[in-house]
Amino acid sequence: MKRVLCKKMTSVLLAFLLVAACTLLEHPVFPASATPKQTMQLPVLMYHHISESASRLGDYVISPAQFESDLKFLKKAGYQTVSAQAVLQFVKNGESLPSKAVMITFDDAFLSTYVYAFPLLKQYGMCAVIAPVGVYTEQFSDPNEPRHVNYANTGWEELREMLQSGVFELASHTYNMHGDGKNGGRKGIQKMAGEDVTSYQQALYDDLSHMNQLCEEHLDTAPRIFAYPFGAICKESAPVLKEMTFEILLSCEEKVSSISQGDTLPIVLGRFNRAHRYDTHTFFSKMGIETDEL
Ligand SMILES: [Zn+2]
Repeated sequence: MKRVLCKKMTSVLLAFLLVAACTLLEHPVFPASATPKQTMQLPVLMYHHISESASRLGDYVISPAQFESDLKFLKKAGYQTVSAQAVLQFVKNGESLPSKAVMITFDDAFLSTYVYAFPLLKQYGMCAVIAPVGVYTEQFSDPNEPRHVNYANTGWEELREMLQSGVFELASHTYNMHGDGKNGGRKGIQKMAGEDVTSYQQALYDDLSHMNQLCEEHLDTAPRIFAYPFGAICKESAPVLKEMTFEILLSCEEKVSSISQGDTLPIVLGRFNRAHRYDTHTFFSKMGIETDEL
């Protein structure tokens, strides 16, 4: 009799424990801390040419003094430049970024980037991405080619030095798809009207592969970042850029990008073009970057 009672009590106890366990599983006392997905706002600046000649200043050409003023402003506002690698580490592994992070980019890799921007970035302890066009790099790597800081592009030698310094990271700006779309030509990497999708994608793949090969050959690295020439985008380019394993695509859409841990690669970043007509304050206020200290 005692034994039967004991068995019954054990069953009741077991049933109770089972119910309690289920309840706990459904409503745990210590909920598994759902790690919140980290998100960051990342302003990206887009520079092109720098010139000391006042007559050349314009939408894509600023003075060395303007560039230095921008760097001073960022420093005073407490911003830190971040590398593309650091951005990718954040997206892929959740590694932290400074709360006031900004990315600097230079399209076209003019010789002026080497002459003016490189020493200033070093001086201010900042970094940037440089996006050369292969065909121009080849042209100005030729020792017989006349070169002047007002118009020339960097050659492989300068690019190598800039990358080795750790100040710059490499982006592809195509080998030879940097046309402005005028006179019936292609605009950047955009598919032309009436162009067959397969031949377009093959042409893009061939161009970008050639650029990557040249970079491997001259710089010992293949770019993982791609800057759209003229910001020209088309949906047919997406599978090719993905196949080329680019991880960051730099657009010309003027917006602060929101990046999150776990975002699918490639991520697309908007960029603000630095035109001469703005003063430093006005340029940065477009991105919500302010400081009272200037
Ligand atoms: Zn360009």
